[in-house]
Amino acid sequence: MIRLGIGYDIHRLKKGRSLILGGVSIPYEYGLEGHSDADVLTHAIIDAIIGALGKGDIGLHFPDTDPRFKDVRSLDLLKEVALWMKKEGFILNNLDSIIVCQKPKLMPYIPEMRRNISEAIGADERRINIKAKTKEGLESVGKGEAIESYATVTLIKEKLR
Ligand code: MG
Repeated sequence: MIRLGIGYDIHRLKKGRSLILGGVSIPYEYGLEGHSDADVLTHAIIDAIIGALGKGDIGLHFPDTDPRFKDVRSLDLLKEVALWMKKEGFILNNLDSIIVCQKPKLMPYIPEMRRNISEAIGADERRINIKAKTKEGLESVGKGEAIESYATVTLIKEKLR
């Protein structure tokens, strides 16, 4: 059995916040605004897995009105969602994702993001792909006001070779 999931998220950039993407702390004068650590990549991935499991969305399970999730590490939420996946007998077949970000350059941080996501899900790094793109200066993301992210996953029930 194969399940497909899609996730999307966007967070505003704000002075004085830490920039956390895929669990990596990236030096930059702006960071993402949010109730949790605002890790927009990890949020898109969480939503893709929740979607593939047919369990609604991230806001349903981890509401931003709940003080338990204040400043929470999003990788820990991903770990929890990966447990639900395993409980239902699924494993991650593959994950593809995009971070759309005008600045800073993310390329040097992608290997560490990939490692973090792989560890949180408990899936081989080769099943995980992360891409970074700019918005060519267009719209809010291109003007450096926000960072957005897209993710797709496929989950499978049978064991892989
Ligand atoms: Mg979010």
